[in-house]
Amino acid sequence: YPHRPYPRLLAHSGSEEQNPQPDQEYQRLPYSSSKRGSPGNKYSGCLANLTKEGSHWTGTRSNPLLSLHSSKFVSKRTACLIATGPSPAATEEPEMDLPKEIFLKDYKKPDYLFDTVDLEFQLGDEKTMVTSKIAVSPGNEGNSSPLTLHGCDLKLLSIKINGTELKSDKYTVDPRHLTILTPPAGVFNMEIVTEIYPQLNTSLEGLYRSTGNFCTQCEAEGFRKITYFQDRPDVMAKYTCRIEGDKTLYPVLLSNGNLIEQGDLEGGKHYALWEDPFKKPCYLFALVAGQLECREDSFVTCSGRKVTLRIWTPAQDLPKTSHAMYSLKEAMKWDEEVFGLEYDLDLFNIVVVPDFNMGAMENKSLNVRICLCLENICRQKFDDVLFINEQVFQSRLVLASPEAATDGDYAAILGVIGHEYFHNWTGNRVTCRDWFQLTLKEGLTVFRDQEFSSDLGCRTVKRIADVSKLRSYQFPQDAGPMAHPIRPLSYIKMDNFYTGQLLFLKYYALNRVYNNVN
Ligand SMILES: [Zn+2]
Repeated sequence: YPHRPYPRLLAHSGSEEQNPQPDQEYQRLPYSSSKRGSPGNKYSGCLANLTKEGSHWTGTRSNPLLSLHSSKFVSKRTACLIATGPSPAATEEPEMDLPKEIFLKDYKKPDYLFDTVDLEFQLGDEKTMVTSKIAVSPGNEGNSSPLTLHGCDLKLLSIKINGTELKSDKYTVDPRHLTILTPPAGVFNMEIVTEIYPQLNTSLEGLYRSTGNFCTQCEAEGFRKITYFQDRPDVMAKYTCRIEGDKTLYPVLLSNGNLIEQGDLEGGKHYALWEDPFKKPCYLFALVAGQLECREDSFVTCSGRKVTLRIWTPAQDLPKTSHAMYSLKEAMKWDEEVFGLEYDLDLFNIVVVPDFNMGAMENKSLNVRICLCLENICRQKFDDVLFINEQVFQSRLVLASPEAATDGDYAAILGVIGHEYFHNWTGNRVTCRDWFQLTLKEGLTVFRDQEFSSDLGCRTVKRIADVSKLRSYQFPQDAGPMAHPIRPLSYIKMDNFYTGQLLFLKYYALNRVYNNVN
């Protein structure tokens, strides 16, 4: 850290005219909507400050750090060409396989908006059929441009526009896109049927099946492995999700929102229909199906609504979830009292499965967490030793028994359960415009979970532990080749920004600066 003092994290502040839009979505937070939280709410103004300051988080093309990185990148490439010999033409790959760099300055609003998305999954051992019915409306008046959808590892079975099958000369498909060349003017309905193979999906993005259970991970860009879609955070829609599967193999069928219908079908199958009444980006979509059991409890919100809480795990892990349930109820209460934020649905599910690749994920009303044991780790996609250690640590984060867990484990469970719950507002209801704003949802939510842990535990001990982590993990990263500003000016693969806890720590530290918390 002496080589990269902390204030350099702010070095990317630049001219305002290059900032495309202030983060207006963040201004909608209802700071003091609850009866418990309004008076004397110690953070009532801090989110507004963040918005104001956030609008200045911008970079310039002449940024010295950026040009340093660019020149390094170019010279590496040149060295490689010299070493391997062949001319550029001979090494040219097909255009569609070249990674594309995405720049913040190129942001454009989507040409088309999706108002509602009705998904149907027919889960099967060999293949899964996904039907997606989308109500599309033009993003701009008089828009007639082609509608380009992202897609990856999908088998397209059919496309219908307003109920009529689309002829093959009306669209194009490549390994990453489906383009509808001349969509109708005005509002229209689109129905796309795809076939996917979750049992073969080893990327652990999109829908995959592992040790018998189906599970999804869509942040950041996994939804495109489920169906063709505008897979970007500023396309927000209301979702329903109907899941159909074998009742013996998959007795539990979960998705976002509220369960509005379920029943048996012929052939030993059953179904569940879920409805999420709030608009969300597709990276928050979730589906879990399998043999799980739940611990159930309830929470009465500040306005008197009763919310059912369920923590789902494989049967053998159920006794270890009592502290997680305690943590969830404390988090719900704390968010009402301190931030004035009340939970907004009737049901909150947490799923703890051994086959999950993100540590934890804040899908709207269906948080998913990992419970790893050592032998699972080799199957994870991470190749970073430090991060693997984090994952081992995280296995103790979710499930705790007095025989094995330490005080630190109990404290960590409290923080992690709180973190994903707090995303219900900061990230899920108040959303990011694009992935360049990852810092907003993560930094603010880490800030909130650290304050939560400080309030329920010992503030001084918590602060020492946080600073220690910052010095041990964040500063070495910032002094090495993985260093990057909290809001980059470009990226090739968004997944590279999810570097364990590291990135989030820096975001959190910056939030503390904005909020003048010592
Ligand atoms: Zn988070």
